[in-house]
Amino acid sequence: MSAAQLQGAERTPQGVVMKGITMEPVVEKCEGCERIKEFEGEKYCSTYPQPELKWKLGVCNFATHVKAELDKSGKVKVNPLKASKRAARGR
Ligand code: SF4
Repeated sequence: MSAAQLQGAERTPQGVVMKGITMEPVVEKCEGCERIKEFEGEKYCSTYPQPELKWKLGVCNFATHVKAELDKSGKVKVNPLKASKRAARGR
């Protein structure tokens, strides 16, 4: 396994819990982010427990693989950082 392991997480009937917080798996947009950690074969974010929610609100401000910018009209623009994206594909 190449990704780092999620530390301090445990499997409970409610799902994967870390420090009392239920963790949701990462979403497609997270692919390539260095904050992804693996736990029992699934990927979780070590920074934010609900990646899907994070991306619903816009661009994840913790992401290491994309850089979010607001353009002049105030819309969010996402610029993939090429090197890390390629690394993520090579799995
Ligand atoms: S930091 Fe953001 S982009 Fe990276 S894994 Fe977590 S939720 Fe996804």
